[in-house]
Amino acid sequence: MKKNQTRRKFIKTSALGLGGLIVARQGYKYINQSTAKAKIVIVGGGAAGITMAAYLSNMLRDKDITIIEPNEIHLYQPGFTLIAAGIFNAKDVAEPTSKLIPRGVTWLKDSVQDLNPESNKVVTKSSGTISFDYLVLVPGGQMNFDLVEGISRKNLGEGNAHCIYDYDGAQRCFEAIQKLENKKETKLVFTDTYTKLKCGGAPKKITFITDSYLRKKDARTGKTFDYYNNGATLMTPDLYGDRLATLYNEKAITPHLKHRLVAVDTYGKKATFEELPEPTLAPTPSSANYEKVVVDYYFLHFVPPMSTPDFVKKSPLATQEGDLKFGGWVDVDKETMVHNKYKNVISFGDVSSLPTSKTGAAIRMQAPIAAANLVSLMEGNEPEQKYNGYTACPIVTEYGKVLMCEFGYDKEIMPTISWLDPGVEKGMWWVLKKHGLKPMYYHGMLKGLI
Ligand SMILES: Cc1cc2nc3c(=O)[nH]c(=O)nc-3n(C[C@H](O)[C@H](O)[C@H](O)COP(=O)(O)OP(=O)(O)OC[C@H]3O[C@@H](n4cnc5c(N)ncnc54)[C@H](O)[C@@H]3O)c2cc1C
Repeated sequence: MKKNQTRRKFIKTSALGLGGLIVARQGYKYINQSTAKAKIVIVGGGAAGITMAAYLSNMLRDKDITIIEPNEIHLYQPGFTLIAAGIFNAKDVAEPTSKLIPRGVTWLKDSVQDLNPESNKVVTKSSGTISFDYLVLVPGGQMNFDLVEGISRKNLGEGNAHCIYDYDGAQRCFEAIQKLENKKETKLVFTDTYTKLKCGGAPKKITFITDSYLRKKDARTGKTFDYYNNGATLMTPDLYGDRLATLYNEKAITPHLKHRLVAVDTYGKKATFEELPEPTLAPTPSSANYEKVVVDYYFLHFVPPMSTPDFVKKSPLATQEGDLKFGGWVDVDKETMVHNKYKNVISFGDVSSLPTSKTGAAIRMQAPIAAANLVSLMEGNEPEQKYNGYTACPIVTEYGKVLMCEFGYDKEIMPTISWLDPGVEKGMWWVLKKHGLKPMYYHGMLKGLI
């Protein structure tokens, strides 16, 4: 076998070994198959919906499960960052939904427009009203590009304003990063958003990737990097926030805290930020007189404000009080994931009010617990399994290194490998991100095996 084939094989095997360690750590005990019967409707066939269907399918002897999902193609969203880094191709992260729906589960290719939890019904766009005994509400988050003045989703990339949260956007972003190599004195601007968002680490990942790409090409000199951050620190828990601040300093990326992007002039290449006295999830009141900062840029990476989809936001299932009401996040118990008012509704993943970071890694932990609790409810028992808020975000800090941020509720650090310093970026996490996580997602998590 040739030398680099052997090396590649070794790296892939190591990634799978690391994956195995992560899986072993979950330690979740299966329950025996239940004979409980009920009609379960799952709204959304993304990471959470398919994983939940797989667990329920394994747990129930006699199943009646329908997933309502409009898209024929399922996208592995954590791969978008690696598309923007030129590591994955677009097709590497796309699979037909039909291949992923568990056997014995019905797929209704439609989208839900209304939720009526009082009458146990959902209204779909084309198939009329569907009734349920139990509802699993997992339609993910909605990206509200139009809340940034001057931006529209279909024109992403126009005026060199990019966003890797969008499938096409991630591809255009990599094209633009490659072109930066030939620019001399250039201003690059990066920002996150003020709302709750999926993978809060992604805006930092793309900043580091761009920096690292240019260093690899010996083209970093003469380029300024500014990062406008909504929060008062780069990240919590502080262990990770402090490490990121050190890396920003070392890599000459200037952070600007408590700034919110409100408009982009893609023709004039100007980004307008508001400087808020304190971070808040509330949309800016039009009456507010915050200081405006207008920044010229050559390349911009931004993140749109996020919320639940409109049909969730307007429903009685959305949180009605406190800061979470602004995004309409589904009001569930943070441990059992059962709705606080409607006890036959379970929700988790990006759409939920769970006070943890919204990631696929969190869903891997949430789904088996949510499924066990749903089966308990069907059997007439209390939901007893409890989720501890575990989430993980592998922040790529350069090609070849990842800071693996793992934490739970109350910002408790929860490292998978307890004897490794969690506050330092490592090559082995890069190997896992590049080679291990995608197979784990498709062949483990979505099948309800890990
Ligand atoms: C750029 C980026 C990087 C990321 N990096 C990581 C990472 O490194 N690690 C990590 O763990 N996570 C990462 N994530 C986050 C992860 O992808 C999400 O947390 C996860 O996909 C959320 O799963 P979900 O099922 O809640 O939502 P989704 O996967 O978004 O699925 C929601 C589904 O609901 C469907 N739906 C929407 N509206 C309706 C409707 N009206 N009716 C029926 N169905 C509907 C949608 O079509 C979709 O299929 C990243 C995400 C992005 C965008």
